[in-house]
Amino acid sequence: MKLLIDGSWKDPESGKYTEKMNPSTGEMLEKIPSADRKEVDNAYDAAETAFWPWYELGSKERARLILKAADLITAKRKELEDILVAENGKRRIEAAGEVDGVLDQMTYYAGFERKLTGNVAEGENFDRKIFQYKVPRGVVLALTPWNFPAAMVARKLAPALLTGNTVVLKPSSDTPHSAEWITRKFVEAGLPKGVLNFITGKGSEIGDYMVAHKKVSVITMTGSTETGQRIMEKASANMAKLILELGGKAPFIVWKDADIKNALKTLLWAKFWNAGQSCIAAERVYVHEDIYDSFVQKFASATSSIRVGDPETADMGPLINASALTGMEKVVETAKDDGAKVLAGGSRPKLSGKLASGYFYLPTVLEEKDQKASLFQNEVFGPITGVMKVGDLETAFELANDSRYGLASYLFTNDVTTAMRATERVRFGEIYVNMPGPEASQGYHTGFRMTGQSGEGSQYGIEEYLKIKNVYIDYSGKPLSINTVRDDLIH
Ligand code: NAP
Repeated sequence: MKLLIDGSWKDPESGKYTEKMNPSTGEMLEKIPSADRKEVDNAYDAAETAFWPWYELGSKERARLILKAADLITAKRKELEDILVAENGKRRIEAAGEVDGVLDQMTYYAGFERKLTGNVAEGENFDRKIFQYKVPRGVVLALTPWNFPAAMVARKLAPALLTGNTVVLKPSSDTPHSAEWITRKFVEAGLPKGVLNFITGKGSEIGDYMVAHKKVSVITMTGSTETGQRIMEKASANMAKLILELGGKAPFIVWKDADIKNALKTLLWAKFWNAGQSCIAAERVYVHEDIYDSFVQKFASATSSIRVGDPETADMGPLINASALTGMEKVVETAKDDGAKVLAGGSRPKLSGKLASGYFYLPTVLEEKDQKASLFQNEVFGPITGVMKVGDLETAFELANDSRYGLASYLFTNDVTTAMRATERVRFGEIYVNMPGPEASQGYHTGFRMTGQSGEGSQYGIEEYLKIKNVYIDYSGKPLSINTVRDDLIH
């Protein structure tokens, strides 16, 4: 793996690398370069120099290059799937779905070429106008997470580049390979040098320096709320525009009149997709008391039948790293101490061969009675969920909203009144009624409370990368009358 700075792929000056393990086996997968401050400076200099020619190229040509990169990805998509399976431990079928997502983001955003329009406001006089039009903000720092390492890269690069910004990309240290592979496809497509730069290194080592850098105009980051808070603090140095897609703790409400089969199938997807490592994962399940026993019994039984193991063949793969695995053990220990009952899973699976050293945890269902328990308050980010009995709708809304996070939520009901009341009362950026996610390119992915700021997707998401510029113009050709300046000053 190399760094990309001003169009050249380079080894790190420091000669320093960190190690990345394969989550399915615990074996060393590859070495990741650690960029230093000078390399970060060089990447920003290159992005700044490349800005004007890239902007002046026009959105039609920029879209053509994005689509060409998408074609190159399509031609070799199996390579990207292989990388996702190896570096993230994603199931093959989920890796293929993620590559579809990458292509969807790229083609969707490229479709905005020549479509972003402005506004003309009336001036104070007839011969005056105010033109309001949208311009790129400048240099974008894109920081991506490990859970959807390719899709998040595409979701940031495509709108940033289409709108005429230049980019420095720093992916998660857990999954930089897919980001490097996608970057190489953009270069191959003919992106001018400096328009996209690729930097790797630990966020804890170079993150603050990258964030506070005076050349950054936008910071788009998907990751944890704690990192988002730190970025907000550090970005006070440059007042960069922040697009922060942070944590989630999705409530999943199943009402007494729900289609139980659909609800169960969606819940199994919403909790165990990507081994539960998703910001829209169903982290707490509220079930109406009339159907609680039978629903929860079916859910626990289905969960116990999920086959965990090799991501090529199993129903669920490993967690991302060793600390995520021990984190799951702590979640279950704490929940049990808090009085929760294990209904399914609750331990590591017994696997043999190479997989015995992988970071696997069994899909787990815990019955919880206390909304204030850690299981119902803190993001788990793994294959563990809690179920709770609820008697009336108002309580369900109250419990759902009782969270520091506010990204995704789910509701299953066949009653239109219940559905419509929920869409108003549940204070989350998105609510999925009688259907699974994930969010679509044409939806605006955003969250309330500590889930962050701004959003991604749709026209609203693309406009985050633009600034409105106002041109005031007088075309009367008449002498100007400015009542605070005496006319007789000018001869
Ligand atoms: P993370 O630890 O916060 O890291 C996210 C990115 O920020 C990584 O590239 C990381 O680099 C970098 N980073 C870390 N410290 C930094 C610093 N001080 N300054 C600048 N950058 C820094 O998050 P994660 O563990 O990768 O992802 C899991 C989290 O993402 C979960 O909370 C999940 O809910 C959230 N998520 C949210 C969405 C959404 O759309 N809202 C989608 C997916 C995931 P290193 O890897 O080198 O530390």
